[in-house]
Amino acid sequence: STGVPLLEVGKLATGYGAGDVLKGIDLRLNAGEMVAVLGANGAGKSTLMRAIAGLQRPVRGGIALAGEETASQPAHRMVARGLVLVPEGRQVFPELTVRDNLRLGGFLRRVAIDADVEAMLERFPRLRERIGQRAGLLSGGEQQMLAVARALMGKPVVLLLDEPSLGLAPKVIADLFAALDRLRAERMTLLLVDQMAGLALSLADRAYVIEDGRIVAAGAASDLAADKALERAYLGHT
Ligand code: ATP
Repeated sequence: STGVPLLEVGKLATGYGAGDVLKGIDLRLNAGEMVAVLGANGAGKSTLMRAIAGLQRPVRGGIALAGEETASQPAHRMVARGLVLVPEGRQVFPELTVRDNLRLGGFLRRVAIDADVEAMLERFPRLRERIGQRAGLLSGGEQQMLAVARALMGKPVVLLLDEPSLGLAPKVIADLFAALDRLRAERMTLLLVDQMAGLALSLADRAYVIEDGRIVAAGAASDLAADKALERAYLGHT
């Protein structure tokens, strides 16, 4: 290793006009790490994910992918460089079939797409049963699986997942986290925002806690999970 993190966010500040939502965020993601970002509603987690994905411009500070500054690049350039966001609210193309949603996820690569679709169906067996159906007819959990599978079709270098468990039933959340655990075992580099703090910490190597646009705690996921004061203050959701 060269010591350069795969993703580095430095002193990042951004917002939506009236004051900063993020007030100086420092965060790093090493290759092969799974890192969780936790915090209450409105803390700025989605804004951070959108900024990293190139969908929200920094007002101050920077973001670098493999040592190269990204903040001035548009979102589609970030996708081409391997930084793929699965946004909150599982955005699949409802009128397209499951198969076409998956194929679109591999569109930038153009080769071996059918083999990769098959690999996704092996990874998410529920999608195989639904392969010819319109995505809009899937259950919420199936749509979330599809959103993750579509992102993986792009062979991301860094996968950003924003609230994948939101609104899903416990059994479906367990299936989803099993799929994330497999990605962790495969050493996918993954940044995960989720309200299910206990579950997220049980998977992640490290975590950051955001409060009001600032990092208020960071460290090994196991240390944060064992921190009772932190649990009471921020991690009350699980
Ligand atoms: P949640 O879990 O509720 O999504 P979050 O930690 O992801 O919370 P953000 O969605 O980043 O938080 O929102 C942080 C702050 O920015 C909130 O005060 C929110 O109201 C505000 N905000 C988010 N998106 C916009 C927007 N498009 N325009 C204006 N303000 C916004």
